[in-house]
Amino acid sequence: METRNLIAGEWVAGQGDVENVNPSDLSDIIGHYAQATEIQLDDTLAAARVAQAAWAAYLPERKQAILMAIGNEMMDRAEELGTLLSREEGKPLAEGKGEVYRAGQFFTYYAAECLRQIGENADSVRAGVEIDVRREPVGVVAVISPWNFPTATASWKIAPALCYGNAVVWKPANITPASAVALTEIIAKQDIPPGLFSLVMGSGGQIGQRLVESPQIDAISFTGSVPVGKGIAAAAIQNLTKVQMEMGSKNALAVMDDADIDLAVTLALGGAFGGTGQKCTASSRLIVHHAVHDEFVEKLVAGAKAMKVGHALAEGTQMGPVVSDEQLRENLAYVDLGKSEGAELACGGAQLEMPEQGYYMSPGVFLNTTNAMQINREEMFAPLTSVICVGSYDEALATVNDTNFGLTSGIVTRDLARATHFRRNARTGVVTVNLPTAGTDYHVPFGGRGDSSYGPREQGKAAAEFYTTVKTAYISAGTPS
Ligand code: NDP
Repeated sequence: METRNLIAGEWVAGQGDVENVNPSDLSDIIGHYAQATEIQLDDTLAAARVAQAAWAAYLPERKQAILMAIGNEMMDRAEELGTLLSREEGKPLAEGKGEVYRAGQFFTYYAAECLRQIGENADSVRAGVEIDVRREPVGVVAVISPWNFPTATASWKIAPALCYGNAVVWKPANITPASAVALTEIIAKQDIPPGLFSLVMGSGGQIGQRLVESPQIDAISFTGSVPVGKGIAAAAIQNLTKVQMEMGSKNALAVMDDADIDLAVTLALGGAFGGTGQKCTASSRLIVHHAVHDEFVEKLVAGAKAMKVGHALAEGTQMGPVVSDEQLRENLAYVDLGKSEGAELACGGAQLEMPEQGYYMSPGVFLNTTNAMQINREEMFAPLTSVICVGSYDEALATVNDTNFGLTSGIVTRDLARATHFRRNARTGVVTVNLPTAGTDYHVPFGGRGDSSYGPREQGKAAAEFYTTVKTAYISAGTPS
């Protein structure tokens, strides 16, 4: 059966559909997903405008109860929805379930925030005048989300958008539509005005482009690649639409000469190969002090070789397939590029034959690389990582910062002074000490610098900056004081 889009509060068929295939087993067809038409998009944008005004007038406890119900249902159904997510995206089941549970937490966190929307007040510089500063919804928000965290990324945008009184039109990645439909079904059955929340599945270049060009939207929250992000920003500026974008990265983990090497190896393996390396927070550059280089590399390569690659839903799988044939081809091209640049491929980086036909490759480690190599400059979004050997902490820090990106960075050290210096001088939006570069909390800001991010931060209370607009009211009693 063809799955439908949620348009102006109704589930409607689209113009054709796309087939959703399990990357762990290409014979497993998950379903066919309707592609929204431009007319449907226009209809739902008009309905969103009306619904947003009604939603903004809901009292805070009513909004809070709705977001809480969405979050609780997602957490209760984490096993079932996580299985669906892993089946269509390819991450191991534990990661799929964890993602859905975390997505639920975004809704329960922002449910509570519905009751914490407190403004500021001030005395005016003019006698008898008081000032009230409060936040109001920005309006209709377009959410454009990627496939690598199909539920969590969308949820950390949708939950605050609704919390702060906005309507949402969601264009999910076309390669992971099943998770999008599942989340939409949970939201749609709540006590919300028809049209407050819409699902418009379709290709980014068509329905996505039409959405971001629409003067009917007030804000766009996007996560994806840098070129698409730049195109969206260019479209947004035509209508002066507010934008928030999380894009690529080239995160570094610096392993110092005083590091606990076993800890460093565990962090590097998890950071590089978790989610098959398809994470904006992946540890794709391992910057290692020469004094511990050989020991670190030996253990890292042994760990990478020992990783169990397999079907996302199979017990014991540590790394699933990559998401698509296109992504697999790009990854293998990066392996060739790395070798041609002079990097030594110590292990992995090869397509794997498995009992089921899928997009499998082995986790790859490049050695003897320099930070100038293209494999260390471009986001690969692959289960590939590079070791860069450095002679000192200063060189490590300079190498961490020598990138166009700036999302996350980490240091492994037992030296408090170094850890403190690194925390203050790494030019990234997120910095970790003796922790992976991947894996963040939901109640604090998330975002980066350089080409990694543009616009206000996501998550935690920081999300209010993007999803609201500030109103400053001056009030006089109307009589001379
Ligand atoms: P894209 O940037 O192409 O896609 C991200 C989202 O944007 C998807 O929903 C996509 O839709 C949509 N989109 C694409 N083109 C447009 C457009 N013109 N207007 C509006 N929306 C659009 O990323 P990909 O999924 O193709 O991945 C390519 C690379 O991007 C990865 O290899 C990785 O390097 C990077 N990436 C980074 C992410 C991160 O978190 N840092 C996340 C995802 C990707 P659709 O998928 O339907 O085309």
